Amino acid sequence: MAELEGLEFGKSDFVLLDEVTMEQFMENLKLRFEKGRIYTFIGEVVVSVNPYREMDIYGKETIDAYRGRELYENPPHLYAVSDAAYKAMKRRAKDTCIVISGESGAGKTEASKYIMQYIAAITNPTQRAEVESVKNVLLKSNCVLEAFGNAKTNRNDNSSRFGKYMDINFNFNGDPTGGHINNYLLEKSRVVHQQDGERNFHSFYQLLRGGSNEMLESFHLQSDPAVYTYTREGAAITTTNNDRTSHKAVMSALNVIGFSEEEINSIYQILATILLLGNMQFECDGESVQIVGLEAVNHISELTATDPESVSKSLLYRTVATGGGEVIEKGHSEQDACFGRDAFAKALYERLFGWIVSRINTVIEVKDYNPMLHGKNTVIGVLDIYGFEIFDNNSFEQFCINYCNEKLQQLFIELILRQEQGEYQREGITWQHIDYFNNQIIVDLVEQPHKGIISILDEACLTVGNVTDTVCLDSMDTKLAQHPHYTSRKVRQTDRKYGGEGDVTFMEGFLDKNKDMLFQDFKRLMYNSANPVLKEMWPDGHLSITEVTKRPLTAATLFKNSIVALVDKLACKEPYYVRCIKPNEMKSPVLFDDARCQHQVAYLGLMENVMVRRAGFAYRQPYSRFLQRYKMTCEYTWPQHLMASDREAVETIVTQHGFQDDVAYGHTKLFVRTPRSLFTLEQERAALI
Ligand code: ADP
Ligand code: MG
Repeated sequence: MAELEGLEFGKSDFVLLDEVTMEQFMENLKLRFEKGRIYTFIGEVVVSVNPYREMDIYGKETIDAYRGRELYENPPHLYAVSDAAYKAMKRRAKDTCIVISGESGAGKTEASKYIMQYIAAITNPTQRAEVESVKNVLLKSNCVLEAFGNAKTNRNDNSSRFGKYMDINFNFNGDPTGGHINNYLLEKSRVVHQQDGERNFHSFYQLLRGGSNEMLESFHLQSDPAVYTYTREGAAITTTNNDRTSHKAVMSALNVIGFSEEEINSIYQILATILLLGNMQFECDGESVQIVGLEAVNHISELTATDPESVSKSLLYRTVATGGGEVIEKGHSEQDACFGRDAFAKALYERLFGWIVSRINTVIEVKDYNPMLHGKNTVIGVLDIYGFEIFDNNSFEQFCINYCNEKLQQLFIELILRQEQGEYQREGITWQHIDYFNNQIIVDLVEQPHKGIISILDEACLTVGNVTDTVCLDSMDTKLAQHPHYTSRKVRQTDRKYGGEGDVTFMEGFLDKNKDMLFQDFKRLMYNSANPVLKEMWPDGHLSITEVTKRPLTAATLFKNSIVALVDKLACKEPYYVRCIKPNEMKSPVLFDDARCQHQVAYLGLMENVMVRRAGFAYRQPYSRFLQRYKMTCEYTWPQHLMASDREAVETIVTQHGFQDDVAYGHTKLFVRTPRSLFTLEQERAALI
């Protein structure tokens, strides 16, 4: 309970509301935001509202206040959940995970960084060098991933355009010994196309603005992002973040992590290649398509350590196998050439990003860990993944992202309820089951074999011939007409409906993005590079056209598989939740947009969460711990009790304060139904000390 906070800051736990209504919930959330209290509990869940200003609440003093304390002993904070997850891991050898959710700009990534900083700060008190180095790499990896995976969008100047799940491994001392990063669905279409007001990934601007003259010259680049098609399209070339200083920080982080000079150089060569590709144009002389200006071809061949003829050939022709097994070269149309160039640029970037992540993973991988010798190796996972996105133009990415959120919401419901029920059972306490909206039906709509949206999409992608988005939609309309959560756009201008409020309309380009086609010629070109770093990124380039599988997994299926694997990973861990809310669209520290906030509270299922918490027992504490904290409030237990057990002593305290009807006695813990009872005790205790 929030002993350090007065009631003028509102209720520190939504469970304390007089009535669980949306009105009261919103009133409390708003009051706290206005008073600078950005965190509020729902039991063990932390609800966070983005303050859009520097807060003096993350320093060493705060860290010390939370270290090793119980959740209710301090005001709500990210550090409280971080410590709870850490304690569960250390004391009970539990694998735990912290799931951070919320929409773009709600503060997820900042939260994940504070959580990691907290864990780094409270571990390795003896400053052992190898542990310090692991911590350092874990923290520095953020800087690199943000450079390559984040971009300025209209919603967030530093928006993560990929999902991240990071496992941190701990030894029996509770010190970090390593980790592993999984990345999900990088928004690679951004490499070649940005909406108005948005930028490409930071890395490009950092290179152009921050790279030395020498470096830029050797890469045949000019320092002005306005020169390059891929970096000027959104017309938002400058932002508040300083690309030049970031470039230095990224270079230094790459060094600290252990990237070699050659590797770092290769990374930037690939970025340069992409920029040059973007400016490449094609013309048709009536018969065949040619590249305009061959200088760029020479530069690209130099940067990628390939020969110039192969570069131009892969841009202008594709190798195809005919029905008779014959292999021929087919010249591109101008349109095909542009499509191929962009697909190549996107793939180069995606593979670069994947390679950087796996390179970091080899550095932080736990090596030489012997459980017999070192005890159980436990894990804390931190998930920072894109939240629901509903734009004016929704495409394949939003479809995947929203599906992922439905999956996570499903897990949230399941785990929170399962956790509660499990605890009551263990402690021998009866409780009443409560109903909640189960979004399984929506998850099924997307992922069911044969009948689900992904299956229908895949089928359309694998059909030979010209299946357009419209044809595919028609097929969906026929197959899903009966589904209660599917709305045909013919009826309501929407294609699919997502859970909670708000319909989402998905736009064209779906099938192409799902097919995610890249001509084999490009893969082969990269595989034949004399640069070993580049070659390593394209292992599938050795296949000849006749060996290439005709039915590769589609982007949606690959994504689904990775999300299913993620959910499995999370499901076997003890979960902790941070639910982030974005207070307004203006990035303002003073504006609380009621309608926008209420919408988020609704689709995050926070009201249900409060109800689940209230239906059962909001608080629970082991008898000894309760006694320790409150024995001073009762004459029979202060300074020592003479009863047969701690439990009896606790019963005495409870009865003396008159809330015996509000509690249940478990085997090892006291369960308190309404937090008000504990709150009274807290106040009494505070008055005494
Ligand atoms: P998300 O990852 O949810 O898209 P971010 O974590 O990137 O959102 O936050 C967006 C921006 O909001 C940050 O760049 C920062 O300016 C601001 N912000 C978020 N959380 C905080 C915080 N705890 N304190 C101060 N500013 C914050
Ligand atoms: Mg983010």
